[in-house]
Amino acid sequence: MAVDTQAYRKISAEARTHGARLVAVSKTKPVADILALYHEGQRIFGENYVQELVGKQPLLPADIAWHFIGHLQRNKVKSLVPFVSMIQTVDSLSLLREIDKQARKVDRVIDCLLEVHIAREDSKSGLDEGALLSLVEQVRAAPADYAHVRLCGLMGMASFTDEEEVVRKEFQKLRELAAQVRQRFTELETSFRELSMGMSADYGWALEEGSTLVRVGSLLFGARS
Ligand SMILES: *Cc1c(COP(=O)(O)O)cnc(C)c1O
Repeated sequence: MAVDTQAYRKISAEARTHGARLVAVSKTKPVADILALYHEGQRIFGENYVQELVGKQPLLPADIAWHFIGHLQRNKVKSLVPFVSMIQTVDSLSLLREIDKQARKVDRVIDCLLEVHIAREDSKSGLDEGALLSLVEQVRAAPADYAHVRLCGLMGMASFTDEEEVVRKEFQKLRELAAQVRQRFTELETSFRELSMGMSADYGWALEEGSTLVRVGSLLFGARS
């Protein structure tokens, strides 16, 4: 089995030391690998593909907290909402509206993170600073329309580079943006606290820069093919 339980223990302890939580990113990995980490005590797993997640979820323990971390299309929201614990990749108001609408139908409130574009590559999705503030403003202007979603913080992916300064600056940018949101929208001051940043290559820097959720896949489960 490719699951590295030694790495798991080390990384989850590091996260805990920093007051952060580990999201074990299990996309493309079989149920048996997820169970192996579950038996080590891991409870939060991250997945990127709706079909894959919807297929695996019923085969695994019900107390797993599933975080959706992939690009999410509106027409797929409905199948996630009955069981997902957090959607980390909200990048538009229309997506947030759809999450609220579907969550309302099943009488749930879904924790959401707003995905911000912090990398220098164009390919990575997410809101820019202006779009982020405008989205939060629109939610605040119509709270009854968003009663079934909870804005919990920000998510971002750093540039694909081993230049430490570049990556740290991007994490700092995300942390500053979250602080800006809390300052500007004081009703979010206590609830808008999550900063999902850091992956296998950069989770150590992310923890030092204030990450509360590190999303680690390949170091735990081995390389994806
Ligand atoms: C796949 C993925 C990860 C995990 O990446 P690793 O480099 O394998 O740790 C983290 N975040 C997102 C958004 C991902 O798509």
